[in-house]
Amino acid sequence: MVHEHEVVIVGAGIAGLYAALEASRSVNTAVISKVFPTRSHSISAQGGTAAPLGNMEEDSWEWHLFDTVKGADYLGDQDAQEILVRESVEVAYELEHMGCPFSRTEEGKIAQREFGGHYSNLGKGPIRRACYAADRTGHAMLHTLYEQCVKNDVRFYTEFFVLNLLVENNICTGVVAWDMQNGGLHVFHAKAVMFATGGYARAWKVNTNALSNTGDGMSIVLQAGLPLEDMEFVQFHPTGLFPSGVLVTEGARGEGGYLVNNEGKRFMEKYAPAKMELAPRDVISRSIQTEINEGRGIGGKGYVHLDLRHLGRAAIMEKLPQIHELILKFSGIDAVTDFVPILPTSHYAMGGIPTDVNGRVVMDAKNTPVTGFYAAGECACVSVHGANRLGCNSTMDCAVYGRRTGRAMARFIGEGAEKADLPKDALERGRAKLERLLTAKGKENPAAIRDELQETMMINCGVFREEKLLKKQLEIIKSLQGRFKEIEVGYKGPRFNTELLDAIELGNMLDFVETIVVGGLARTESRGAHSRTDFPKRDDANWMKHTLAWKTDSGIRLDYKPVVVTRFQPEERKF
Ligand SMILES: Cc1cc2nc3c(=O)[nH]c(=O)nc-3n(C[C@H](O)[C@H](O)[C@H](O)COP(=O)(O)OP(=O)(O)OC[C@H]3O[C@@H](n4cnc5c(N)ncnc54)[C@H](O)[C@@H]3O)c2cc1C
Repeated sequence: MVHEHEVVIVGAGIAGLYAALEASRSVNTAVISKVFPTRSHSISAQGGTAAPLGNMEEDSWEWHLFDTVKGADYLGDQDAQEILVRESVEVAYELEHMGCPFSRTEEGKIAQREFGGHYSNLGKGPIRRACYAADRTGHAMLHTLYEQCVKNDVRFYTEFFVLNLLVENNICTGVVAWDMQNGGLHVFHAKAVMFATGGYARAWKVNTNALSNTGDGMSIVLQAGLPLEDMEFVQFHPTGLFPSGVLVTEGARGEGGYLVNNEGKRFMEKYAPAKMELAPRDVISRSIQTEINEGRGIGGKGYVHLDLRHLGRAAIMEKLPQIHELILKFSGIDAVTDFVPILPTSHYAMGGIPTDVNGRVVMDAKNTPVTGFYAAGECACVSVHGANRLGCNSTMDCAVYGRRTGRAMARFIGEGAEKADLPKDALERGRAKLERLLTAKGKENPAAIRDELQETMMINCGVFREEKLLKKQLEIIKSLQGRFKEIEVGYKGPRFNTELLDAIELGNMLDFVETIVVGGLARTESRGAHSRTDFPKRDDANWMKHTLAWKTDSGIRLDYKPVVVTRFQPEERKF
């Protein structure tokens, strides 16, 4: 079956829905999502969304820009970062006017809290910049956008899994998707296609992400012959609940929480004396991991303590109610009276599908755009987060660049874009992918392959990296890719075949992880979240550049492109 739309957006998180809302004002727009829209991972964003509104104290977009540039360890493109911080103000008020239920100040303005990496006056003291709705900010944003999309008659295809991107001669014409509920393949034919497929952290054993965050969009792009950018930069969030890694928001430290080791010491004194628990995430994750590695974890184990007790019951229940409940349900611990055990947990993709500042996907180091193909949100790399993302800048990246991308697609179509023909074998491509998995008769168990991938990524490609371990991980990935060809999917039925779904997602995870390891091996420096124990220094002379990675028959091919620097020259990073 072929569906005709002008715009087809894959992904119903904040990025996809903001784009759909904008595009649907003037063109026929459809959204495809493998989960119900309001179950997208954006729903679980807790702590806030960054905008220099200055509601609590003086703030400015220049200060926010400086923090974003420095937080990113100078690898972000400053033109894109400037757009993020300037448009964030307008976007926060637009969300408010749509009815987004932000927490309020006494005078009724949007309330703002402190967050790691956000400071006043070009890096001085902490600043209250994160707009929040208690500790369920993503929930508030996503429901607001979903309501608006329904009002605008956006057509939703829910529980459809996109398998292929259709790109021919550098023109994108659509996607092929599997109807998970009823079975069967569908081709979507469009003038503009957008990927807003979110993150990938399920490839690590300890992670904060939804089950659906398997990096499908990134791998589908690789499979279509297009590159990914800066994939070696993977964010570990400092405070995952031990042992699962479920997220305890940075808002907990924003509200004044401490980190302590087995000696009861606030160890951040040693690593970031000025900013303490509010240093950027890469710095704090490394500090926690160092405490654990050097035997100062609690009881010598793999975790340290987050202490919220001094905040008092009233503040915890007002500002962090969901976190209190989550800690109680997952660990049986009452954060009002007890320490919370935490460890660094895989969280966020700084890299992704390369785009320009209007969401157009680019295909090489010269930034040549692919006609009719767009991306935004966590799956994309524009690049605002560079080597390390600041907390609260992601939901705002999704909103600002989702909105820009929706507008760009509407403009592209308004200016008379033609609908190019679909490839003749479009449906066949999707069918071949599913058939290969359904007819394979091997002995390998997909769940065992997934477990091995997750465990080894944790050990060999975690907070700290080195050549020996990365090389080992590359071998492991290649061997797992080989074993994946020998799997058998036991259940062959067409409806809600979750065994088949797991296999497709595993195949996708095995593709993009290779770009992370190969990019990380090549980058012989430490920058932001990419921390090489064998190359501990940042090396601007050789590595102040973005990585591009393609998947070829003979492995991953790399190329590089310059970083856009406008206002702030790289300097040493001290916190
Ligand atoms: C626990 C947690 C807390 C966070 N807290 C914050 C915070 O406080 N502040 C902040 O700024 N950031 C936070 N982040 C990060 C931020 O929430 C995410 O980066 C952001 O929401 C990603 O949104 P997105 O629109 O890119 O994609 P997502 O919301 O992840 O949505 C991805 C969409 O793609 C669809 N999809 C994917 N693959 C396919 C496929 N093959 N076929 C069809 N559909 C597909 C999915 O169905 C889904 O609709 C948090 C992240 C986590 C995990």
